[in-house]
Amino acid sequence: MANRNLNAEELKQAHLLLDEICGKLEILSGDDLHLLFAYRRKIYKELIYLERGKPMQRRKLKIQKYDLQHGKCAHCSDDIAIQYSELDRKNAADGYTLENTELVHAKCHQARQAAKGYT
Ligand SMILES: [Zn+2]
Repeated sequence: MANRNLNAEELKQAHLLLDEICGKLEILSGDDLHLLFAYRRKIYKELIYLERGKPMQRRKLKIQKYDLQHGKCAHCSDDIAIQYSELDRKNAADGYTLENTELVHAKCHQARQAAKGYT
């Protein structure tokens, strides 16, 4: 399933929200550029966690998928090492769940994304 994109009005709303957030971060940090950096990094990280889950959750899921796939890549069926593997979501908006992911080699993940037109 293709990822949902924002229409023109939704995109405008997203930019307004981003402007509002940037303004609030500037107020919070005053003239302290290092504090502004720290606030931006924190917000960035938390938004990523909302979409992707926390690293420990994904690590646990990789181990589960590795066991379920008997140590094989879901794309090419060759042996796979967990530390060089990636979780490929069938539908990005459905997140990193057991049902919505497959464990694949990084190169196989890139090939899949290229085939979907994401790269
Ligand atoms: Zn592979």
